[in-house]
Amino acid sequence: MDDPRILVTGGAGFLGSHLCDRLVASGRDVLCVDNFFTGSKRNVAHLIGQPHFELMRHDVTFPLFVEVDRIFNLACPASPVHYQYDPVQTTKTSVHGAINMLGLAKRTGARILQASTSEVYGDPEVHPQPEGYWGRVNPIGIRSCYDEGKRCAETLFFDYHRQHRVDIKVMRIFNTYGPRMHPNDGRVVSNFIVQALKGEDLTIYGDGSQTRSFCYVDDLIEGMLRLMDSPAGFTGPVNIGNPGEFTMLELAELVLKQVGGASKLVHKPLPADDPKQRKPDIALAQSALGWQPTVALEDGLRETIAYFRKLLAS
Ligand code: NAD
Ligand code: UDP
Ligand code: UDP
Repeated sequence: MDDPRILVTGGAGFLGSHLCDRLVASGRDVLCVDNFFTGSKRNVAHLIGQPHFELMRHDVTFPLFVEVDRIFNLACPASPVHYQYDPVQTTKTSVHGAINMLGLAKRTGARILQASTSEVYGDPEVHPQPEGYWGRVNPIGIRSCYDEGKRCAETLFFDYHRQHRVDIKVMRIFNTYGPRMHPNDGRVVSNFIVQALKGEDLTIYGDGSQTRSFCYVDDLIEGMLRLMDSPAGFTGPVNIGNPGEFTMLELAELVLKQVGGASKLVHKPLPADDPKQRKPDIALAQSALGWQPTVALEDGLRETIAYFRKLLAS
Protein backbone atom coordinates (compact mmCIF):
# COMPACT_ATOMS: atom_id res chain seq x y z
CA MET A 1 0.00 0.00 0.00
CA ASP A 2 1.53 3.31 -1.11
CA ASP A 3 -0.02 5.83 1.25
CA PRO A 4 -2.23 4.14 3.80
CA ARG A 5 -4.59 6.28 5.87
CA ILE A 6 -4.12 5.26 9.45
CA LEU A 7 -6.58 5.47 12.34
CA VAL A 8 -5.17 5.43 15.87
CA THR A 9 -7.83 5.10 18.58
CA GLY A 10 -6.63 6.25 21.98
CA GLY A 11 -4.05 8.27 20.05
CA ALA A 12 -3.82 11.04 22.65
CA GLY A 13 -2.79 8.61 25.39
CA PHE A 14 0.65 7.52 26.52
CA LEU A 15 1.34 4.79 23.93
CA GLY A 16 -0.96 6.27 21.28
CA SER A 17 0.85 9.61 21.19
CA HIS A 18 4.23 7.91 20.72
CA LEU A 19 2.71 5.81 17.94
CA CYS A 20 1.30 8.94 16.24
CA ASP A 21 4.78 10.53 16.47
CA ARG A 22 6.39 7.58 14.69
CA LEU A 23 3.70 7.40 12.02
CA VAL A 24 3.68 11.15 11.28
CA ALA A 25 7.50 11.21 11.22
CA SER A 26 7.44 8.52 8.52
CA GLY A 27 5.06 10.63 6.43
CA ARG A 28 1.88 8.62 7.12
CA ASP A 29 -1.59 10.17 7.17
CA VAL A 30 -2.84 9.80 10.73
CA LEU A 31 -6.35 10.24 12.14
CA CYS A 32 -6.11 10.29 15.93
CA VAL A 33 -9.39 9.53 17.70
CA ASP A 34 -9.73 9.98 21.46
CA ASN A 35 -12.36 10.92 24.05
CA PHE A 36 -9.64 12.41 26.33
CA PHE A 37 -10.66 10.27 29.31
CA THR A 38 -7.06 9.56 30.30
CA GLY A 39 -5.27 11.05 27.31
CA SER A 40 -4.85 14.75 26.63
CA LYS A 41 -4.39 17.19 23.79
CA ARG A 42 -1.07 18.10 25.40
CA ASN A 43 0.33 14.69 24.40
CA VAL A 44 -0.24 15.45 20.71
CA ALA A 45 -0.10 19.28 20.79
CA HIS A 46 3.16 19.25 18.82
CA LEU A 47 1.43 17.32 16.01
CA ILE A 48 -1.64 19.57 15.68
CA GLY A 49 -1.36 21.65 12.53
CA GLN A 50 0.96 19.23 10.77
CA PRO A 51 -0.46 18.33 7.33
CA HIS A 52 -0.42 14.56 7.98
CA PHE A 53 -2.15 14.72 11.37
CA GLU A 54 -5.82 15.07 12.30
CA LEU A 55 -7.35 14.94 15.78
CA MET A 56 -10.99 13.94 16.42
CA ARG A 57 -12.83 13.80 19.75
CA HIS A 58 -14.90 10.63 19.68
CA ASP A 59 -15.82 7.78 22.01
CA VAL A 60 -15.23 4.38 20.36
CA THR A 61 -18.23 2.87 22.14
CA PHE A 62 -20.22 4.74 19.47
CA PRO A 63 -20.03 3.89 15.75
CA LEU A 64 -17.43 5.70 13.69
CA PHE A 65 -17.70 6.10 9.93
CA VAL A 66 -14.40 7.13 8.35
CA GLU A 67 -12.39 5.81 5.39
CA VAL A 68 -9.09 4.28 6.48
CA ASP A 69 -6.71 1.46 5.49
CA ARG A 70 -5.20 0.60 8.85
CA ILE A 71 -6.50 0.78 12.41
CA PHE A 72 -4.48 0.68 15.62
CA ASN A 73 -7.08 0.11 18.36
CA LEU A 74 -5.54 1.46 21.57
CA ALA A 75 -8.54 3.22 23.13
CA CYS A 76 -8.92 2.00 26.73
CA PRO A 77 -7.66 3.27 30.07
CA ALA A 78 -4.70 1.12 31.08
CA SER A 79 -3.84 1.87 34.68
CA PRO A 80 -5.80 0.15 37.48
CA VAL A 81 -6.74 3.50 39.09
CA HIS A 82 -8.20 4.78 35.82
CA TYR A 83 -9.90 1.61 34.59
CA GLN A 84 -11.50 0.99 38.00
CA TYR A 85 -12.87 4.57 38.17
CA ASP A 86 -15.79 3.66 35.86
CA PRO A 87 -15.55 -0.12 35.39
CA VAL A 88 -18.73 -0.41 33.31
CA GLN A 89 -17.37 2.15 30.83
CA THR A 90 -14.07 0.22 30.77
CA THR A 91 -15.78 -2.98 29.64
CA LYS A 92 -17.90 -1.02 27.16
CA THR A 93 -14.78 0.58 25.72
CA SER A 94 -13.07 -2.78 25.23
CA VAL A 95 -16.10 -4.68 23.94
CA HIS A 96 -18.30 -2.11 22.14
CA GLY A 97 -15.14 -0.34 21.01
CA ALA A 98 -13.80 -3.57 19.49
CA ILE A 99 -17.15 -4.31 17.78
CA ASN A 100 -17.28 -0.83 16.24
CA MET A 101 -13.66 -0.84 15.10
CA LEU A 102 -14.01 -4.38 13.72
CA GLY A 103 -17.22 -3.31 11.95
CA LEU A 104 -15.26 -0.41 10.47
CA ALA A 105 -12.44 -2.75 9.42
CA LYS A 106 -14.96 -5.16 7.87
CA ARG A 107 -16.64 -2.39 5.84
CA THR A 108 -13.44 -0.70 4.66
CA GLY A 109 -11.22 -3.80 4.34
CA ALA A 110 -8.73 -2.17 6.71
CA ARG A 111 -6.14 -4.18 8.61
CA ILE A 112 -6.72 -3.79 12.36
CA LEU A 113 -4.36 -4.21 15.31
CA GLN A 114 -5.64 -4.69 18.84
CA ALA A 115 -3.65 -3.42 21.84
CA SER A 116 -4.33 -6.37 24.12
CA THR A 117 -2.50 -6.98 27.36
CA SER A 118 -0.57 -9.37 29.54
CA GLU A 119 -3.58 -9.04 31.89
CA VAL A 120 -5.27 -11.73 29.76
CA TYR A 121 -2.94 -14.11 31.65
CA GLY A 122 -4.31 -12.85 34.99
CA ASP A 123 -2.32 -14.08 38.00
CA PRO A 124 -0.37 -16.70 36.06
CA GLU A 125 0.78 -20.13 37.25
CA VAL A 126 2.91 -20.52 34.11
CA HIS A 127 6.11 -18.47 34.17
CA PRO A 128 7.24 -16.85 31.92
CA GLN A 129 3.98 -16.54 29.96
CA PRO A 130 3.90 -17.90 26.39
CA GLU A 131 1.00 -17.00 24.05
CA GLY A 132 -0.37 -20.55 24.32
CA TYR A 133 -1.11 -20.13 28.04
CA TRP A 134 -4.85 -19.48 28.60
CA GLY A 135 -4.40 -17.56 31.83
CA ARG A 136 -5.92 -17.43 35.29
CA VAL A 137 -8.34 -14.51 35.51
CA ASN A 138 -10.93 -13.75 38.20
CA PRO A 139 -14.16 -13.00 36.26
CA ILE A 140 -15.81 -11.00 39.09
CA GLY A 141 -13.01 -9.06 40.77
CA ILE A 142 -12.04 -5.39 40.63
CA ARG A 143 -9.58 -5.98 37.76
CA SER A 144 -12.11 -8.00 35.75
CA CYS A 145 -13.61 -5.04 33.84
CA TYR A 146 -10.22 -4.61 32.21
CA ASP A 147 -9.00 -8.22 32.03
CA GLU A 148 -12.25 -9.77 30.81
CA GLY A 149 -12.98 -6.80 28.54
CA LYS A 150 -9.62 -7.32 26.85
CA ARG A 151 -10.16 -11.09 26.67
CA CYS A 152 -13.57 -10.59 25.05
CA ALA A 153 -12.02 -8.12 22.60
CA GLU A 154 -9.50 -10.82 21.59
CA THR A 155 -12.42 -13.23 21.08
CA LEU A 156 -14.17 -10.68 18.85
CA PHE A 157 -11.00 -10.11 16.84
CA PHE A 158 -10.60 -13.83 16.14
CA ASP A 159 -14.32 -14.29 15.36
CA TYR A 160 -14.34 -11.35 12.90
CA HIS A 161 -11.24 -12.93 11.37
CA ARG A 162 -12.78 -16.39 11.04
CA GLN A 163 -16.32 -15.28 10.20
CA HIS A 164 -15.70 -12.14 8.10
CA ARG A 165 -12.05 -12.63 7.07
CA VAL A 166 -11.00 -9.35 8.71
CA ASP A 167 -7.21 -8.92 8.60
CA ILE A 168 -6.29 -8.82 12.31
CA LYS A 169 -3.18 -8.48 14.48
CA VAL A 170 -3.39 -9.06 18.22
CA MET A 171 -0.59 -7.74 20.41
CA ARG A 172 -0.29 -8.63 24.10
CA ILE A 173 1.48 -5.68 25.69
CA PHE A 174 3.37 -6.15 28.96
CA ASN A 175 3.96 -3.26 31.41
CA THR A 176 5.34 -0.34 29.43
CA TYR A 177 6.78 2.92 30.75
CA GLY A 178 8.36 6.12 29.49
CA PRO A 179 7.81 9.83 28.94
CA ARG A 180 4.12 10.98 28.77
CA MET A 181 2.95 8.45 31.33
CA HIS A 182 0.21 10.17 33.31
CA PRO A 183 1.77 11.48 36.57
CA ASN A 184 -1.33 10.46 38.60
CA ASP A 185 -2.18 7.18 36.91
CA GLY A 186 -1.12 5.17 39.95
CA ARG A 187 1.13 2.86 37.96
CA VAL A 188 4.21 1.79 39.76
CA VAL A 189 6.86 3.45 37.57
CA SER A 190 5.16 6.87 37.53
CA ASN A 191 4.26 6.64 41.24
CA PHE A 192 7.82 5.81 42.33
CA ILE A 193 9.43 8.47 40.14
CA VAL A 194 7.00 11.23 41.12
CA GLN A 195 7.27 10.30 44.81
CA ALA A 196 11.07 10.25 44.66
CA LEU A 197 11.24 13.59 42.83
CA LYS A 198 8.94 15.18 45.41
CA GLY A 199 11.01 13.73 48.26
CA GLU A 200 8.04 11.65 49.42
CA ASP A 201 8.27 8.05 50.57
CA LEU A 202 7.84 5.34 47.93
CA THR A 203 4.67 3.27 48.38
CA ILE A 204 5.34 -0.47 48.15
CA TYR A 205 2.09 -2.44 47.93
CA GLY A 206 2.34 -5.68 49.93
CA ASP A 207 5.85 -6.93 50.70
CA GLY A 208 7.19 -5.77 47.32
CA SER A 209 8.25 -9.26 46.23
CA GLN A 210 5.76 -9.33 43.32
CA THR A 211 7.45 -9.02 39.93
CA ARG A 212 6.82 -7.16 36.68
CA SER A 213 8.75 -6.85 33.43
CA PHE A 214 9.08 -3.29 32.18
CA CYS A 215 9.38 -2.38 28.51
CA TYR A 216 10.53 1.07 27.39
CA VAL A 217 7.98 2.81 25.17
CA ASP A 218 10.27 3.15 22.10
CA ASP A 219 10.85 -0.62 22.04
CA LEU A 220 7.14 -1.25 22.40
CA ILE A 221 6.17 1.04 19.50
CA GLU A 222 8.79 -0.61 17.29
CA GLY A 223 7.21 -4.00 18.04
CA MET A 224 3.75 -2.62 17.32
CA LEU A 225 4.81 -1.23 13.93
CA ARG A 226 6.52 -4.50 13.00
CA LEU A 227 3.42 -6.46 13.90
CA MET A 228 1.20 -4.18 11.81
CA ASP A 229 3.55 -4.65 8.83
CA SER A 230 3.86 -8.42 9.26
CA PRO A 231 2.54 -10.78 6.54
CA ALA A 232 -1.26 -11.10 6.27
CA GLY A 233 -1.37 -14.67 7.55
CA PHE A 234 0.24 -13.73 10.85
CA THR A 235 -2.47 -12.75 13.34
CA GLY A 236 -0.74 -13.25 16.68
CA PRO A 237 -1.54 -13.08 19.53
CA VAL A 238 2.04 -12.08 20.14
CA ASN A 239 3.67 -10.95 23.38
CA ILE A 240 5.57 -7.66 23.23
CA GLY A 241 7.46 -6.83 26.38
CA ASN A 242 10.88 -6.83 28.01
CA PRO A 243 11.70 -10.14 29.69
CA GLY A 244 13.87 -8.46 32.35
CA GLU A 245 12.01 -9.26 35.58
CA PHE A 246 12.17 -7.08 38.70
CA THR A 247 10.51 -7.12 42.11
CA MET A 248 8.86 -3.86 43.16
CA LEU A 249 11.54 -3.52 45.85
CA GLU A 250 14.25 -3.75 43.18
CA LEU A 251 12.45 -1.16 41.06
CA ALA A 252 12.19 1.20 44.04
CA GLU A 253 15.96 0.87 44.66
CA LEU A 254 16.73 1.61 41.00
CA VAL A 255 14.58 4.75 41.06
CA LEU A 256 16.06 5.97 44.34
CA LYS A 257 19.60 5.34 43.06
CA GLN A 258 18.98 7.66 40.10
CA VAL A 259 16.87 10.34 41.79
CA GLY A 260 18.75 10.47 45.08
CA GLY A 261 17.15 12.31 48.00
CA ALA A 262 15.90 11.10 51.35
CA SER A 263 12.81 9.07 50.37
CA LYS A 264 12.19 5.85 52.29
CA LEU A 265 10.04 2.85 51.45
CA VAL A 266 6.63 2.55 53.12
CA HIS A 267 4.38 -0.48 52.81
CA LYS A 268 0.68 -0.21 51.85
CA PRO A 269 -1.90 -3.01 51.50
CA LEU A 270 -1.67 -5.15 48.37
CA PRO A 271 -4.68 -4.47 46.07
CA ALA A 272 -7.06 -7.40 45.39
CA ASP A 273 -6.09 -9.84 42.62
CA ASP A 274 -2.67 -8.20 42.16
CA PRO A 275 -0.68 -10.64 39.98
CA LYS A 276 2.26 -12.16 41.85
CA GLN A 277 4.58 -12.44 38.87
CA ARG A 278 4.74 -11.45 35.24
CA LYS A 279 7.34 -11.94 32.52
CA PRO A 280 6.83 -12.35 28.77
CA ASP A 281 8.08 -15.26 26.72
CA ILE A 282 9.06 -13.33 23.58
CA ALA A 283 10.25 -16.25 21.40
CA LEU A 284 7.37 -15.68 18.96
CA ALA A 285 8.09 -11.94 18.58
CA GLN A 286 11.75 -12.76 17.99
CA SER A 287 11.10 -15.39 15.32
CA ALA A 288 8.04 -13.87 13.58
CA LEU A 289 8.88 -10.15 13.80
CA GLY A 290 12.66 -10.17 14.34
CA TRP A 291 11.88 -7.99 17.37
CA GLN A 292 13.40 -7.80 20.79
CA PRO A 293 13.75 -4.95 23.27
CA THR A 294 16.97 -2.93 23.25
CA VAL A 295 16.57 -0.45 26.13
CA ALA A 296 17.72 -1.56 29.59
CA LEU A 297 15.55 -0.55 32.56
CA GLU A 298 18.25 1.79 33.97
CA ASP A 299 18.44 3.67 30.66
CA GLY A 300 14.68 3.89 30.19
CA LEU A 301 14.24 5.09 33.76
CA ARG A 302 16.78 7.87 33.15
CA GLU A 303 14.67 9.20 30.23
CA THR A 304 11.46 8.87 32.20
CA ILE A 305 12.87 10.58 35.29
CA ALA A 306 14.10 13.46 33.10
CA TYR A 307 10.59 13.80 31.65
CA PHE A 308 8.89 13.90 35.05
CA ARG A 309 11.51 16.28 36.45
CA LYS A 310 10.67 18.76 33.70
CA LEU A 311 6.92 18.20 34.09
CA LEU A 312 6.98 18.80 37.84
CA ALA A 313 9.15 21.89 37.41
CA SER A 314 6.60 23.45 35.05
P1 NAD B 1 -3.65 5.63 28.28
O1 NAD B 1 -4.71 5.65 29.31
O2 NAD B 1 -2.57 6.65 28.36
O3 NAD B 1 -4.28 5.74 26.83
C1 NAD B 1 -5.56 5.28 26.49
C2 NAD B 1 -6.21 6.33 25.59
O4 NAD B 1 -7.52 5.87 25.22
C3 NAD B 1 -6.40 7.66 26.31
O5 NAD B 1 -5.97 8.72 25.47
C4 NAD B 1 -7.90 7.73 26.55
O6 NAD B 1 -8.40 9.04 26.63
C5 NAD B 1 -8.43 6.94 25.38
N1 NAD B 1 -9.76 6.36 25.59
C6 NAD B 1 -10.20 5.67 26.68
N2 NAD B 1 -11.48 5.28 26.50
C7 NAD B 1 -11.85 5.72 25.25
C8 NAD B 1 -13.04 5.65 24.50
N3 NAD B 1 -14.12 5.02 24.96
N4 NAD B 1 -13.07 6.23 23.26
C9 NAD B 1 -11.99 6.88 22.79
N5 NAD B 1 -10.82 6.98 23.45
C10 NAD B 1 -10.77 6.42 24.68
O7 NAD B 1 -3.04 4.17 28.28
P2 NAD B 1 -1.82 3.55 27.47
O8 NAD B 1 -0.83 3.07 28.46
O9 NAD B 1 -1.38 4.46 26.39
O10 NAD B 1 -2.51 2.27 26.83
C11 NAD B 1 -2.89 2.22 25.46
C12 NAD B 1 -3.43 0.82 25.15
O11 NAD B 1 -2.42 -0.14 25.40
C13 NAD B 1 -4.64 0.44 26.00
O12 NAD B 1 -5.56 -0.26 25.18
C14 NAD B 1 -4.05 -0.47 27.03
O13 NAD B 1 -4.99 -1.40 27.49
C15 NAD B 1 -2.92 -1.14 26.28
N6 NAD B 1 -1.85 -1.60 27.19
C16 NAD B 1 -1.01 -0.72 27.80
C17 NAD B 1 -0.05 -1.19 28.68
C18 NAD B 1 0.92 -0.27 29.36
O14 NAD B 1 1.73 -0.76 30.18
N7 NAD B 1 0.94 1.01 29.10
C19 NAD B 1 0.03 -2.57 28.97
C20 NAD B 1 -0.87 -3.43 28.35
C21 NAD B 1 -1.80 -2.93 27.45
N1 UDP C 1 -19.52 0.24 12.41
C1 UDP C 1 -18.84 1.41 12.54
N2 UDP C 1 -18.24 1.93 11.42
C2 UDP C 1 -18.32 1.34 10.21
C3 UDP C 1 -19.01 0.12 10.10
C4 UDP C 1 -19.61 -0.41 11.23
O1 UDP C 1 -18.73 1.99 13.62
O2 UDP C 1 -17.75 1.89 9.26
C5 UDP C 1 -20.17 -0.33 13.60
C6 UDP C 1 -21.63 -0.59 13.36
O3 UDP C 1 -22.37 0.52 13.83
C7 UDP C 1 -21.91 -1.84 14.14
C8 UDP C 1 -20.53 -2.43 14.46
O4 UDP C 1 -19.59 -1.58 13.85
O5 UDP C 1 -22.54 -1.53 15.36
C9 UDP C 1 -20.36 -3.83 13.97
O6 UDP C 1 -20.49 -3.86 12.57
P1 UDP C 1 -20.95 -5.17 11.83
O7 UDP C 1 -21.00 -4.85 10.36
O8 UDP C 1 -20.08 -6.29 12.23
O9 UDP C 1 -22.34 -5.48 12.46
P2 UDP C 1 -23.82 -5.07 12.07
O10 UDP C 1 -23.75 -3.67 11.54
O11 UDP C 1 -24.22 -6.06 11.09
O12 UDP C 1 -24.53 -5.16 13.38
N1 UDP D 1 2.62 -0.98 43.00
C1 UDP D 1 3.34 -0.59 44.13
N2 UDP D 1 3.32 0.72 44.48
C2 UDP D 1 2.67 1.68 43.76
C3 UDP D 1 1.94 1.27 42.61
C4 UDP D 1 1.94 -0.07 42.27
O1 UDP D 1 3.98 -1.41 44.81
O2 UDP D 1 2.72 2.85 44.15
C5 UDP D 1 2.66 -2.40 42.60
C6 UDP D 1 1.31 -3.02 42.29
O3 UDP D 1 0.71 -3.55 43.46
C7 UDP D 1 1.69 -4.11 41.30
C8 UDP D 1 2.90 -3.53 40.57
O4 UDP D 1 3.37 -2.48 41.39
O5 UDP D 1 2.10 -5.27 41.97
C9 UDP D 1 2.56 -2.99 39.20
O6 UDP D 1 1.45 -2.13 39.31
P1 UDP D 1 0.89 -1.29 38.10
O7 UDP D 1 -0.38 -0.66 38.57
O8 UDP D 1 1.95 -0.40 37.57
O9 UDP D 1 0.61 -2.34 36.94
P2 UDP D 1 -0.17 -3.76 36.88
O10 UDP D 1 -0.51 -4.22 38.27
O11 UDP D 1 -1.38 -3.49 36.08
O12 UDP D 1 0.81 -4.65 36.23
